[in-house]
Amino acid sequence: MISEIICVGTELLTGDTVNTNASYIAKRLMGLSSGCLWQSVVGDNPSRLSESILTALKRSELIVLTGGLGPTEDDLTKETAAELLVLPLYEDAKSLNDISSYFASKGREMPNMNKKQALIPKGAVILENEIGTAPGILLDFELLKSQGKFYSQYKAKYLILLPGPPREMKMMWESAAEPYLKAKITDLALVSHYMTVFGIGESAAAERLGDIVSGANPTVSPYAKNGSVTFRITANGKSEKDAEAKCLPVIEKMKELLGDSVVGTDVGSMAEVAVSELKGAGKTVALAESCTGGLIAKKLTDVSGASEVFKMGAVTYSNEIKSLLLSVGEDTLCKFGAVSEQTALEMCKGAAELSGDDFGVSVTGIAGPLGGSEEKPVGTVWIGIYSKKTGKHSAKRYLFGHGRVNERDYIRELTAETALWELIKTVREEN
Ligand code: AMP
Ligand code: MG
Repeated sequence: MISEIICVGTELLTGDTVNTNASYIAKRLMGLSSGCLWQSVVGDNPSRLSESILTALKRSELIVLTGGLGPTEDDLTKETAAELLVLPLYEDAKSLNDISSYFASKGREMPNMNKKQALIPKGAVILENEIGTAPGILLDFELLKSQGKFYSQYKAKYLILLPGPPREMKMMWESAAEPYLKAKITDLALVSHYMTVFGIGESAAAERLGDIVSGANPTVSPYAKNGSVTFRITANGKSEKDAEAKCLPVIEKMKELLGDSVVGTDVGSMAEVAVSELKGAGKTVALAESCTGGLIAKKLTDVSGASEVFKMGAVTYSNEIKSLLLSVGEDTLCKFGAVSEQTALEMCKGAAELSGDDFGVSVTGIAGPLGGSEEKPVGTVWIGIYSKKTGKHSAKRYLFGHGRVNERDYIRELTAETALWELIKTVREEN
């Protein structure tokens, strides 16, 4: 089924709001075997909005709009769609009651303006809003036809209007819109898997995969992000099982070709993988972070259940604290500097010994934009890993960023992801 997303709101055009709704819906459409062929953003302007909807009605079967269902005058998505399709609006008693109950539950009086949100185009399926005021609208053209409304000039089968606030939009999509569509759409099944690799560039990874990346079913397409490359593997088939069977051998072949660069298939963030590997091995980790200032600890503790594998992360920013807390030798710091192999080695060992954990991970580097020298330019980072079991510690030097603009955040992000990846590899090797 050909689908299309239109996000409505001037704040999206000006860049004040990041269009997260589009990426969310696009992903969900993939899961519905419905490829999204167009995405557009239009401001709160009736004629341009009307033009966008009209274009979509002519070329797409499933059209999802978000935004513009609010109570104010600039919220016109519903009014514009109803006008285009010549559907009169009526005040729906249940929706009005839901809206006033929403205000009552918050101990507030319903402003008169909100009444407008209870107006529904005739023949629409109402999508209840459990956490906000605006109900969503689903126009099923088959249903409209049965009520004598014919639109043979349009390709559209479904037009769905969802509220702009991401929380409400997601809730409504998952609890009402998607179940409705799932029950109706029974054509081709589409299955996608995601394989993530790390530490190998997009083109190098693609080169290793050879012909696989130009395959048609499944299609294999990469996208790169902060040191990792994710390949989306998508196949279609008569049924989900059929599509799945087309993906599996390709995934196996990819694993073989990409070897130990593979973080995993259909896995979450690097930190999630690290936590699950540590859990699987029954091991714990301690961190000693300098240039990342706690970012690795933040990433680990973002993962629910991280407490099983993570007890201590020390942000040891100054030399004094590196010595005091992690027993990094003063002579080491003096002779080699804070950003050095020797310091990274002593930091990771010191952290694991301090907390008694199985692994110690350390990072020390120069995130810039100030600082750095010819010998140690901005972006120089040492990552150390210590293992209690083997008693071994090693450190690797990296040069992140491009040495031009301020890339402080980027360098720190890459450092954190790389440190987690080094930890994952060590846990895997030892297990
Ligand atoms: P609206 O329903 O158009 O009144 O939107 C209400 C609020 O939801 C806006 O002020 C934004 O903060 C947010 N919002 C609207 N559209 C989007 C979108 N496409 N992505 C992310 N947030 C959005
Ligand atoms: Mg708006």
